[in-house]
Amino acid sequence: MSLALSASNFPRRAIHFDFHTMPGCEHLGQAFDPKKFVAALQQAKVEFINFFAKCNLGFCYFPSQVGTNYPGLTFDLMGQVIKACQAADIRVSVYFNAGLSHEEALRHREWCIVNQKGQVYEFDQMDHWFRKLCFNSGYRQHLLGMVKEVLQAYPVDGVIFDSMNVPPCYGIECIEAMQKLQMDPKNLLDAEVFAQQTKLSMQSDLEKLVQQYRPGIYRYYLGIEACHQPTHIELEVLPQGGWGYDYLPSRIRYIRTLGKPYSTMTGRFQRSWGDLGGLRPEAALFYDCVNSVANGGACSIGDHLHPSGALQPAVYDLIGKVYRRLAELDEWCDQAKPQVDMAILAPWLRPEAYRPSQHMELLAGASRMLLELGYQYDVIDGEAAFDHYKLLFLPDDARLHPSLAAKLTAYLQAGGALISSAWSGMHPDTDIFALPALAAMVETLGSETINYSFLHCHAEIADELPELGLTIYEPGIAMQGQPGSRCLAGLGKGYFNLGDWDFKHEYLYIPEKEMTSQAALLNSADGRVWHLAFPIALNYYKHAPIYCKTLLRNIIRKLLPQPLLQVKNLPSYGVATVTSQEQRRMIHLMCYVPEKRGQIMEIIEEASVAVDLEISLRLDGRCVERVYLAPSRQQLPFRQKDDYLKISLDKLIGYQLLVCDLK
Ligand SMILES: [Zn+2]
Repeated sequence: MSLALSASNFPRRAIHFDFHTMPGCEHLGQAFDPKKFVAALQQAKVEFINFFAKCNLGFCYFPSQVGTNYPGLTFDLMGQVIKACQAADIRVSVYFNAGLSHEEALRHREWCIVNQKGQVYEFDQMDHWFRKLCFNSGYRQHLLGMVKEVLQAYPVDGVIFDSMNVPPCYGIECIEAMQKLQMDPKNLLDAEVFAQQTKLSMQSDLEKLVQQYRPGIYRYYLGIEACHQPTHIELEVLPQGGWGYDYLPSRIRYIRTLGKPYSTMTGRFQRSWGDLGGLRPEAALFYDCVNSVANGGACSIGDHLHPSGALQPAVYDLIGKVYRRLAELDEWCDQAKPQVDMAILAPWLRPEAYRPSQHMELLAGASRMLLELGYQYDVIDGEAAFDHYKLLFLPDDARLHPSLAAKLTAYLQAGGALISSAWSGMHPDTDIFALPALAAMVETLGSETINYSFLHCHAEIADELPELGLTIYEPGIAMQGQPGSRCLAGLGKGYFNLGDWDFKHEYLYIPEKEMTSQAALLNSADGRVWHLAFPIALNYYKHAPIYCKTLLRNIIRKLLPQPLLQVKNLPSYGVATVTSQEQRRMIHLMCYVPEKRGQIMEIIEEASVAVDLEISLRLDGRCVERVYLAPSRQQLPFRQKDDYLKISLDKLIGYQLLVCDLK
């Protein structure tokens, strides 16, 4: 039986199977046993899988008339998996690698992307990306042909297309198509814009095909921006596989604002995809998954099927431990919506923005500060409404097209508040403020030329800041206040400028000498708008000075004196989120430390512990019936005071869900 897919029954726990099989694996699939395969998934509480139709080697795992079947595969592996899983109510989406397909590339060199040097093989990049396929070549119809075969013959619940994000191509079809559009192949930006158009047009053809043969099934396109996903989002996050631990918290808070169901796709691998013998600690895998759940998301874990076709017991023991623990929380997580006070506005997240995707470090720095401070926030690209945010934070280079500036002005006029830094609020193409509220407050003096400056905050904003000229490591803009604004921090400069060279010394030791006339922090006359001269998010991302975070907190406290959640004694590496159902509020508390080990790895080997937590949850006028731990349902004493629920928790080991039933 195939279950209809919809937002209300979006699968909670999935497995994404990689099955990129190098030629030469004998007896492919010979140990595949549908009963054992399904039993392993069921004991691990898996509800959905992505399984392979065609891998990035270019081999098909169903009897294709169009593509290349894996040599030696004697049966319809994909078809048997679909049949067995669907009979057990496990839904199956099938995978095609779209941008990589080495069998096709070997036999059809004219289908390969031609790079700027005229090469179709990039021998300096000998990973699986060293040959790529051009969607403007004959490969497009070939790929569509394979997808059509599957859609016609199998009752799949979804399709997932990988490696859609191929780079610019300089093959003849692409050159001529660009020229027809008056684009200049010699201009890299033109070539990138054309590659983006090509990618979206390939997606459009695939969409039409699905609508023709299996309308309504799930579709996901890896390598295409979240805002262009048609049905749902599977956020690839493998923290030990190159994504790091900053990625999930910042990106899940964005994708959840796009109005589609979403999951995070982590991996069981010690390193990254294809690491068949690598297994992560249970605490690390659990942390990724529960972090998704705590942000209103579902879970997917990446595995790589062994060529034998049998699932490896140790892998499913691990996944089962993680997923069974999460399944006990379903009652409190189904349809739960994240609750927030504020948002980070990051206009660059939209691919048509002026600088696509170049500012992820700013987002990571901004997100990290708010996360460590315990605020509840979304990340938005400017499309969604602002009205339910009490405060917007525009980190460092959040530049505004006129329509977005107008939207922000309306938000401020309706009582909203804003914190911005450096070039945020300026036009995309010029260093002039597009937002009238900032133009009225800030006189810009160009880019800051002092490489290290020293921050001096006025007493009003200096709570818990050291009485010292505090180093600003990454310069932003130089500014002074316009009449009517208030300056709440000044800047000092050193005896020298960092990096000065007088043919005898490079100036590296920079003691502070004197104050400048510049402002480091300005506040509007009505107190609702704040602007920092320096890129606070970049400073935090690259150098992590706690005083940057403390200063941000001191500003936020002015604008948001009553935050949704406060957890006293939760360490800065702890994470607390709030979700809601109709008659409930859920508080997810997480305490894990990714420790840097060895050369590059960040490892969570076990849960960390926090003690004597004092939790305050703003109730917005609601009354509490009972408070309990989930899933144990052990009730906790609580108080209600000044619109806050107050709970004490003696000890937190790793993760705990607190549930507040409302009257
Ligand atoms: Zn091409």
